[in-house]
Amino acid sequence: MHGQVLKLDVKLCGGCGGCVAVCPVEALELFPSELKIKNDLCNLCRNCMIFCPTGALSVKAEEIEGSSPS
Ligand code: SF4
Ligand code: SF4
Repeated sequence: MHGQVLKLDVKLCGGCGGCVAVCPVEALELFPSELKIKNDLCNLCRNCMIFCPTGALSVKAEEIEGSSPS
């Protein structure tokens, strides 16, 4: 059903927190040094992608990481 998810390139993220502020569903959370994406809340509106000054956020095909098929 999903197929696409928001991904963070940690190397590009400067931790400015701006994406957290523009997310309408609070799917982003900034810990002291690392941004966390709650993909179950994210609706892929792309507000954060458009805002991010470093291009650290992108929508990518969902990776299957050892998750069992539903
Ligand atoms: S807007 Fe970009 S650089 Fe700033 S915290 Fe979010 S992902 Fe990181
Ligand atoms: S794509 Fe939209 S809903 Fe998802 S984290 Fe970014 S701002 Fe929030």
